[in-house]
Amino acid sequence: MAGQAQIGVTGLAVMGRNLARNLARRGHTVAVHNRTATRTRELVERFGQEGTFVPAESAADFVAALERPRRIVVMVKAGAATDAVIDEFAPLLEPGDMIMDGGNAHYADTRRREAALRERGLHFVGCGISGGEEGALHGPSIMPGGSPESYAALGPLLESIAAEVDGEPCCTHIGPDGAGHFVKMVHNGIEYADMQLIAEAYDLLRRVAGYEPERIAEIFRGWNEGRLDSYLIEITAQVLAHRDAETGRPFVDVVLDQAEQKGTGRWTVQTALDLGVPVSGIAEAVFARGLSGHAELRAAARSLPGPTRPTLHPDDAARFADQVEQALYASKIVAYAQGWQLIQAGSEEYGWNIDLAAVAAIWRGGCIIRARFLNGIRRAFGGAEPPVTLLTDELFAGDLAAAQNPWRHVVSRATELGVPAPGFSAALAYYDALRAERLPAALIQGQRDFFGAHTYQRVDREGGFHTLWGGDR
Ligand code: NAP
Repeated sequence: MAGQAQIGVTGLAVMGRNLARNLARRGHTVAVHNRTATRTRELVERFGQEGTFVPAESAADFVAALERPRRIVVMVKAGAATDAVIDEFAPLLEPGDMIMDGGNAHYADTRRREAALRERGLHFVGCGISGGEEGALHGPSIMPGGSPESYAALGPLLESIAAEVDGEPCCTHIGPDGAGHFVKMVHNGIEYADMQLIAEAYDLLRRVAGYEPERIAEIFRGWNEGRLDSYLIEITAQVLAHRDAETGRPFVDVVLDQAEQKGTGRWTVQTALDLGVPVSGIAEAVFARGLSGHAELRAAARSLPGPTRPTLHPDDAARFADQVEQALYASKIVAYAQGWQLIQAGSEEYGWNIDLAAVAAIWRGGCIIRARFLNGIRRAFGGAEPPVTLLTDELFAGDLAAAQNPWRHVVSRATELGVPAPGFSAALAYYDALRAERLPAALIQGQRDFFGAHTYQRVDREGGFHTLWGGDR
């Protein structure tokens, strides 16, 4: 016999609990379940008055509490736990029921799980959810994959709890099987790149312009009023303005400078390598975090010589800060262009038919990279003739043209003064490589033909060619 709950959430750690509360607050009846039942009881005791929860201690009770077709949201630790939960619930379900995985799964796992459950007549929806625990409670950005039928049943509930921008929910059906988790992965890769670029801007303002963190916080607040307006710039200003309560020192100076990572940035780069998409901005960001953690390597290299570093005259510092804003904006366009290139490549590889403009639209709210900037990306890909790359969209191309001289100046200043700016430099190199009339790839083809008879193509004739290089080759 079917129950009354419209949706069920299993896995009630911070994300699952907040999603369940969000659903209940929107008037949905929510069945709740967790492997360790104390979490279920605690949720109902603490937040039961927020809406209608149906607590279930066993998987069978949980399934029985749901109306048909059943909608189950799994919010457990990504990996083996997700498989364990699927194995536990799938035998209890009936054809047409849906399991949605809202964890940070790898899209390849999602493809595997979707195919296996489809065989049993069940819908499996791999769904990216961004915005952390606050987002889960107040409105995340939601990226569901899976079949159109499952979106027809789940979409309205998900849209009701998603963030909203200009009256539009930050939730859309991304595409079949692993499309949602793929797009969420790229979101996180872009997030890595954006954070790295912002960190480089800070470093340059501090070490080249000579500004203190509080002054840099003010500059960032100013930037947040303009085209860089974004959640990440806003929180960066707050972090920089923060002083450590114990020592009174700027917070950023008491934090160990070794950035950690959970893996979605690495997945993005690994996937990009597999699909042959150059995402140098994201890769540099992942490498920069990795490098920061190599304490021994850094200690060993600390005595290597660098340039003497005079800071700028205060008048020049203000001008330099404006140039850094231009360099940051231009580099950001490149990083996002690369991210969208990867989404497009994934969509083609797996036949997902992802709407590139819709992805920009649902990232305008709820998620970590939410920003005004995404309106421009939505416009660029939403037109009748979407550009091959964001860089050649008329408006972004104009921004890049206006920014390119200051961008070059900032990168050369950083190089001269020995301040590493891998994100800014890689973005500029990508920009210059794409616009180059000729690339030295021709020489690489010559080298390959020389040592390996790999052959080459010519600019003036069709076909494959090999040169007899002489000697004993
Ligand atoms: P978590 O710490 O990743 O996972 C804890 C939950 O998983 C608990 O409910 C735990 O149950 C359950 N669990 C672990 N192993 C299990 C197993 N073998 N069988 C059944 N249940 C098992 O929780 P979280 O931080 O709330 O994240 C949930 C998911 O959302 C993860 O995939 C995470 O990557 C993703 N996510 C997190 C964030 C974030 O900001 N935290 C943002 C977006 C997405 P017990 O209570 O019984 O141990």
